[in-house]
Amino acid sequence: MKKWECSVCGYVHEGEEPPEKCPVCGAGPDKFFEVTAVVEGAAQDGIPDDDTVEERSTGFIAMLNDHMVKNHLHPISVHSPNGIVPIAVVFFIIAVVFKVSSLETAALFNMIAVFLSMPVVILSGYVTWQKKYQGVSTSVFKVKIVASVVAVTVLAVLIIWKLIQPDVLVVASSARWVFLMLSLLLLGAVGMAGHLGGQLVFSKAKK
Ligand SMILES: [Zn+2]
Repeated sequence: MKKWECSVCGYVHEGEEPPEKCPVCGAGPDKFFEVTAVVEGAAQDGIPDDDTVEERSTGFIAMLNDHMVKNHLHPISVHSPNGIVPIAVVFFIIAVVFKVSSLETAALFNMIAVFLSMPVVILSGYVTWQKKYQGVSTSVFKVKIVASVVAVTVLAVLIIWKLIQPDVLVVASSARWVFLMLSLLLLGAVGMAGHLGGQLVFSKAKK
């Protein structure tokens, strides 16, 4: 049985032919190369080696980009939206159910913290996509980009809304359900981006 490795994400496929589409990153068969016995050990030891990040280029910006990828700035920074947004949404729900306005305020500060982290999240995500995954435009990366645009937009709307109408969740009105729906949309967007990121990073480790 032949083995084929995806040159974008490192997924290894067994079979006579490379797969139509990489199940991890969505790259086409042209991105697969056959793994021979010599490099097999190296290809199976887990996540693609960060030392092999291509184009170790010169110049300050290029050096920053290299460090961003090598030191995992994207997976580090995504802990902000993925860790804080679920708590903020839980706070919003408790605020509605038990009419606790202090939790509403706490959740607003959570949202602002996440919003401020988004430039780092998006920039490091873009650089990692370009350098580590060759900037392939497969559905996996497109969904991640759309999810981040949705997340930033909804975050901005929720923060501005909350600043204009601080008690939106405590006062009984139909607007608060719209507000809650938007926060669930935000949760879905960061969850989807995080899920696909986990799929890319842990695709081989779990096998
Ligand atoms: Zn792949």
